[in-house]
Amino acid sequence: MAKCPICKVEPANKAHKPFCSKRCADIDLHRWLGGTYAIPAVEPPDDFDAELEAALLEIDAPDEIH
Ligand SMILES: [Zn+2]
Repeated sequence: MAKCPICKVEPANKAHKPFCSKRCADIDLHRWLGGTYAIPAVEPPDDFDAELEAALLEIDAPDEIH
């Protein structure tokens, strides 16, 4: 089965293909929207969730409102 193009760890999930999860699908979306955001290609499994969680939180946080 194809690996998720975002985390390159988990296999693609039927519900979210070609990604493994909504989380990775969201990351891909944000990558396109945000432009410069990049996921490390290799991440230790133990840190993986926390890393993505932090990245998503950072992305989801609204920019400074003026
Ligand atoms: Zn993934």
